[in-house]
Amino acid sequence: MQSRSLMEVARGRVVLTDGGIGTELQRAGLEPGGCGECWNADRPDRVSAIHRAYAEAGAEALLTNTFGGSRIALDRHGAGDRARELNRAAAALARGAAGDGWVLGDIGPFGGFLEPLGEHPADVVESAFREQAEALLEGGADGLLVETMTALDELALAVRAGKAAGAPFVIASVAFDATKVGPRTMMGVAPEAAAAAALDAGADALGANCGTGLGMAGYADVLRRYRDVAPDTVLLCRPNAGTPRVEGQAVVYDLTPERMATEVGLLADAGATVIGGCCGTTPAHIAAMQPVLGA
Ligand SMILES: [Zn+2]
Repeated sequence: MQSRSLMEVARGRVVLTDGGIGTELQRAGLEPGGCGECWNADRPDRVSAIHRAYAEAGAEALLTNTFGGSRIALDRHGAGDRARELNRAAAALARGAAGDGWVLGDIGPFGGFLEPLGEHPADVVESAFREQAEALLEGGADGLLVETMTALDELALAVRAGKAAGAPFVIASVAFDATKVGPRTMMGVAPEAAAAAALDAGADALGANCGTGLGMAGYADVLRRYRDVAPDTVLLCRPNAGTPRVEGQAVVYDLTPERMATEVGLLADAGATVIGGCCGTTPAHIAAMQPVLGA
């Protein structure tokens, strides 16, 4: 357990996080569409190896392998009843590799739409996020990262559930796509609106990750928009390694570690102090960014 809060440290300097986990699981043999979270209990050696590689690359904050770890998301693999077990195990695995660093309990979208747009009642989704958050904290997470959110109602529910579970801090990170009218989520949400909803729900920090078509300059634009409406809030940024393209059966990310390291300064200049990567980034990307960011 880190003695100093990540939020406190990130007010004074850049903290480097890890990179993509889902894409690393696939490189380690997870079949497309397989249950990556199940590996926290069933193949812990492979998950630990990914965490260790990121820690050795210089990541000070490690995400848990729980992006799809809510009961509702796990139900698609018939593993909903394992939610508590898998999240607790995930946090313990990241804890084991983090050393003096931090563990961020990762909460991704539940994978559907809330009522009235969809068929999932808010109270059911909120209790699924709450259960996940509690298990992550029990397993040793220092705080929570709610990430890749695109809908404001789901974002707010997840943040509230994390705070209610007793998380020392909750970072709310949103996935924006490049559009003609600027960065917007798949649900049409602008950064300013996302920031307002996240802070209103109790988020301690704001972030941008994943999304489509945003280069580093696009992420920097999102960060500046956050800064305009929330000047004192800690900002996280975890870009993908470029925009994916499909090559045969494989999804390929083109941004090399060297290119990403050349451009990552834009994120720090725009005010991000918690920086890492999302899909397609690897331990080599994090190792290349480390000296640039001086983290
Ligand atoms: Zn991603």
